[in-house]
Amino acid sequence: MSKLVIGLTGGIASGKTTITDQFNKLGIDIIDADIIARQVVAVNSPALAQISNHFGDEYILPDGQLNRNLLRNRIFANEADKLWLNNLLHPLIRNNIINQTKTANSDYCILVAPLLIENKLNQLVDRVLVVDVSEKLQIERTMLRDNSSEEVVKAIIASQVTRSERLKQADDVINNDDLTPSQLIQQINSLDKKYIALTKMV
Ligand code: ATP
Repeated sequence: MSKLVIGLTGGIASGKTTITDQFNKLGIDIIDADIIARQVVAVNSPALAQISNHFGDEYILPDGQLNRNLLRNRIFANEADKLWLNNLLHPLIRNNIINQTKTANSDYCILVAPLLIENKLNQLVDRVLVVDVSEKLQIERTMLRDNSSEEVVKAIIASQVTRSERLKQADDVINNDDLTPSQLIQQINSLDKKYIALTKMV
């Protein structure tokens, strides 16, 4: 079992995936809250059955997968539905994360979660690493990567915790505004050394 759990978070397109890929190359186990969120509603899962019982059969596509677009639109328009869904999925996701942190066996492991703070997943980690980036760059990088409109990106940013609120929770920060790939790797390598040193103290 890993001796230390690091929670990695940051707003949309801040660089979380780029950074976790690099930690993973160093042999660090990554627990990805987005992947777990998809696994708990996988084809034939009990949670998927509960969703279709509650909202209707049309929430399962002909291939057995969750109809994400339909569900997203429904909960966007209805607070009670959103609450029902969160009450179903959040405990499942949380338990899954706890199990995966227990089975991780690199010196330390990383839980990456875009909504680490919003969903109180920071309670499950020993330290929080925030990837910080200006809103201007978040918009530019998302538009480039996902072909999204500026309005869509701004709405996503507005739905996430503010940059200053996120930074208040940080134990460590990577400012990914204008780092070259090699500067980013250097920062990750020095954090890796720091985390390994911390594991020797626990
Ligand atoms: P999301 O929350 O949307 O999943 P993310 O935080 O995982 O995003 P990435 O996908 O890692 O972010 O990065 C967003 C985009 O910005 C990618 O296209 C990535 O290649 C690019 N990017 C990340 N870091 C840098 C950097 N230092 N310089 C230039 N581009 C970068």
